[in-house]
Amino acid sequence: MDIPEPSKAVQQALVMQQNLHRELDFLATVLSFRLGGPICIPDCGICCHQSFPIPKFSGLYIAVAINTFPEDDRQHIINQLEKWLLKEVPEVRFRFSSDGQAEEEVRIREYRLTHRLSCPLLSSDTKCLIYPWRDVVCRAYTVTRPSPKNCPRPYLKGESPGDRRFITTKTSLEPQRTAIISLLKERAPEWLGMYWMPALVYAFLEPEKWADLSKRVQQTKYASYHSDNLWTMTAEDVRDSALMHPEGVEAVRELNMEPLEL
Ligand code: SF4
Repeated sequence: MDIPEPSKAVQQALVMQQNLHRELDFLATVLSFRLGGPICIPDCGICCHQSFPIPKFSGLYIAVAINTFPEDDRQHIINQLEKWLLKEVPEVRFRFSSDGQAEEEVRIREYRLTHRLSCPLLSSDTKCLIYPWRDVVCRAYTVTRPSPKNCPRPYLKGESPGDRRFITTKTSLEPQRTAIISLLKERAPEWLGMYWMPALVYAFLEPEKWADLSKRVQQTKYASYHSDNLWTMTAEDVRDSALMHPEGVEAVRELNMEPLEL
């Protein structure tokens, strides 16, 4: 399936996004050196037992990468996404309501329930099926955002239970992230809309099938792809995403790191 060619601005944003990925990977290496050990256990998958929204242009980045995979792998991913999308979550019912307060409560509760679903791109042997192309959200774990409480990696230099170290957002990342957002805000704002990652990637990979599937997904879980559903993101959710963790600043202030001797 061909993905329609995005505008120049979006293409430029994708290149900038790739540079941001590189920068995050570099910071992960620096942090790991300074803390004296690996900050992540390969193929552990603990951080992946959740599902999350990403901006539309980030979904395109992942979909373009998947389209370069061998056909069997590509199809396997599409099947995984489809299974996830159609999976019934009994407590979750996508609902519209004109009753403001009740609607807000339902939205937040159902958003959280959907958030707890495992990522469909995590294989049965806990490997990420798109690892080199995974999103900023995934790359940021343990680097610019704290590890989950149940993270199994050993405590490193200066760390103790409840006090894992990570890097503040006030690094080279923040200007890069701001530059991407400014570019798109100005020239292609619709590409900044937030959507559930599995729905978004599937919609890019299988646009014709998605038209029908999206109606069924709205009965199974708190799905979001259409612009009508952009309200799925609350201010709290946005604060919670990607590189925005304010605790990062505190953690780095406390981070007693010696200069590296090379
Ligand atoms: S995309 Fe990959 S790294 Fe990100 S949550 Fe899914 S399986 Fe994990």
